[in-house]
Amino acid sequence: MNVPFLNFHQTHQELKPQLMAALEETLDSGQYILGDQVDKFEKQFAELMGAEETIGINSGTSALHLCVRACGVYPGDEVITTPFTFMASSWCISYEKAIPVFADIDPDTYILDPEKVEAAITKKTKAIVVVHLFGQSAPMDAFMELGRKYNVKIIEDCAQSHLAEYKGQPTGLIGDCGAFSFYPTKNLGSLTEGGLCVSKDKATCDQIRLLRNHAMPDRYTYSDVGYNYRMEGFAGAVLQVKAQYLKVWTARRREIAARYLAGFKLEGLRLPPVIEDAQSVYHQFSVCHSEREALVQHLTEAGVATGQFYPRPLHLQPVYEGLGYKEGDFPVSEQTCWEIVNLPIYSELTDEQVDYVIETVNSFQG
Ligand SMILES: *Cc1c(COP(=O)(O)O)cnc(C)c1O
Repeated sequence: MNVPFLNFHQTHQELKPQLMAALEETLDSGQYILGDQVDKFEKQFAELMGAEETIGINSGTSALHLCVRACGVYPGDEVITTPFTFMASSWCISYEKAIPVFADIDPDTYILDPEKVEAAITKKTKAIVVVHLFGQSAPMDAFMELGRKYNVKIIEDCAQSHLAEYKGQPTGLIGDCGAFSFYPTKNLGSLTEGGLCVSKDKATCDQIRLLRNHAMPDRYTYSDVGYNYRMEGFAGAVLQVKAQYLKVWTARRREIAARYLAGFKLEGLRLPPVIEDAQSVYHQFSVCHSEREALVQHLTEAGVATGQFYPRPLHLQPVYEGLGYKEGDFPVSEQTCWEIVNLPIYSELTDEQVDYVIETVNSFQG
């Protein structure tokens, strides 16, 4: 049997008539940048997550950057984030010539540890970028408490956490603002680049809306340093079609995760925890094993594709050499990089494929 790491091709073939109709409608409308399709998608996604409004952006990376701008981060300010994430969680800090300060993760959830973050807070700390990694919400009570105690802004990186909740509240609406990505591989993926910002604060939404379109309140009048971070009509059109299925696809991811959790018996395999207050939307199903290389080889030979998210922590990236970090600074993040195996998890997987992954993992002899 063959189990690819992703299979959105299948869904796109199945949805082809709806997708083509939506693209054709956009083509005929003549509105290619922002416009009706984006307005409609913004409302649809707001309804899905229970937000007053959302702001369509051209990528998740841009959406994060706008969150950082909206939080008033300036050159020389410190912003704390995790070294175990996709680079964009930290690019948004570097774009403003602010200083990324890293803190280590919780070994069970792979998410930023609030105690380690508190230890890294200084007088210069302006914000914390909390990443809901792999679809698992961070412990937001602890982060909101840090926000209040030290007067720092809480930015949520929701690129992997569409519809994830913490104590019944949707990720993105808990902190000061949140950024989503619709990169094709995400839980809700476009056929284009795409992103979105949310905030429960109206003034923050207004500011982000202004900044995404050149900070141009009136035609050819600029009130700030703005950006061309607008969502395109084709993105809005595709996302409207696919967003109708997000809840069903999320339920299927959870079903697969439950099957994995019940099925894996391999000794020494660390499984993701199930947390009562924060049920994951399983953007990834990540396990750890001390013999990563051999396990991956075993799976590959059996036709099971795997991922390694992420192979190198951010504090050890060449671009950040100047920050002065060294190997050993964040041992949990580093060890996780060497030990993590991301297994296939997506709505298109069949139960037979899931069971085959389980059997293959369980038959590993290290
Ligand atoms: C994908 C991703 C981003 C960036 O989103 P893009 O739409 O690709 O720009 C940011 N943060 C995390 C954690 C991501 O997984």
